[in-house]
Amino acid sequence: MSNQNQQDVQCEHISDVDLDKKGNTKGCEECEKIGSSWVHLRVYLSCGHVGCCDSSKNTHGSKHFKSTEHPLIKSYEPGESWKWCFLDETFIR
Ligand SMILES: [Zn+2]
Ligand SMILES: [Zn+2]
Ligand SMILES: [Zn+2]
Repeated sequence: MSNQNQQDVQCEHISDVDLDKKGNTKGCEECEKIGSSWVHLRVYLSCGHVGCCDSSKNTHGSKHFKSTEHPLIKSYEPGESWKWCFLDETFIR
């Protein structure tokens, strides 16, 4: 990513989801099943699925998008509120 300009991209998916969606689990659902660990957590705003970020070795967060096409995640880290749309490939604050 060389272009650091903040763009005002309109994400039309955001109106279909609950921005205050609570995660279904406290940790990454799939990591917990296999006894693995993660770096950061993301929560899907469509379904509440909690997955680990792309810095985690299992990258369950983006795998969930590939299998379900649920477009929007937000950070599940305390004090962070950014969202990311996989379809628009854009951050939403
Ligand atoms: Zn979008
Ligand atoms: Zn995971
Ligand atoms: Zn989902």
